[in-house]
Amino acid sequence: MSTATKARVDTAYQRLREHLAYLGLSTAAEELAPALDRAAKQKLSAVEVLEDLLARETEATRARRLHGRLRFAHYPLRKTLPEFEFDYQPSIDRKVFGELSTLRFVEERRNVLLLGPPGVGKTHLAISLGIAATEAGYRTYFTTASDLVASLQSAHLEGNASAKMRTFTGPSVLVIDELGYLPMDQTSAHWIFQVVSRRYERGSIVLTSNRGFSDWGQVFADQVVAAAILDRLLHHATVVNIKGKSYRMRRHQAQLDREREPPMI
Ligand code: ADP
Ligand code: MG
Repeated sequence: MSTATKARVDTAYQRLREHLAYLGLSTAAEELAPALDRAAKQKLSAVEVLEDLLARETEATRARRLHGRLRFAHYPLRKTLPEFEFDYQPSIDRKVFGELSTLRFVEERRNVLLLGPPGVGKTHLAISLGIAATEAGYRTYFTTASDLVASLQSAHLEGNASAKMRTFTGPSVLVIDELGYLPMDQTSAHWIFQVVSRRYERGSIVLTSNRGFSDWGQVFADQVVAAAILDRLLHHATVVNIKGKSYRMRRHQAQLDREREPPMI
């Protein structure tokens, strides 16, 4: 190659790198030199080089966006459905979770209500569904019921409740954990009602509670508000009632069982 041709090629290469960087395609810019080396070695066509380069850029963008969605959603722990031992909790119908993991409930804006005593995996399952939806590209948000109420109430006092409300109404899936652990006063019940009714038929709620529906009147200190919230939540919903032993206690229980067995000689 003559010096002149090489200079031209180098210049075109430089310009292409700059175009890519200017357009924000930083992965493609970084990958350009190795992609051209591969193209020369494997005699790839221009279309193949471009496809390879943009596939890498697309993958990097996908990963960056997922990271952003996960940061926004701020799940307190990373839990997944494959990590859940359904054998330990026979009262849960696996088929229901097989269906939920298709995320059709998100598309259909249905709710998922997970009820049961402490330690049976409600939070684990709720986070798993939320993370699965986030990985599929949906915007999601995690909150406990008491944090939801506290943040709306304090935003209200500062005069920006409607902006805060969008945090809870915007995402395709809102995970509300631990409803019912603490009884709510009228103001708190009002905020839960606002969120539930604004999301009604617009976006899914995945909710966990240690209280059965019949106790919700007590939880909200108001039968009428409790009925109005339940009516909207249950209209399109999958309800999972978990009746089992606490997973947190299983090691403890295994130890007790061992101690009860006669020693082997
Ligand atoms: P809950 O919200 O019902 O009180 P958690 O979801 O917080 O219960 O579960 C307590 C702990 O036990 C968590 O670390 C969770 O990941 C784990 N866990 C609960 N049930 C199971 C299960 N069936 N398989 C695997 N881990 C479980
Ligand atoms: Mg929990």
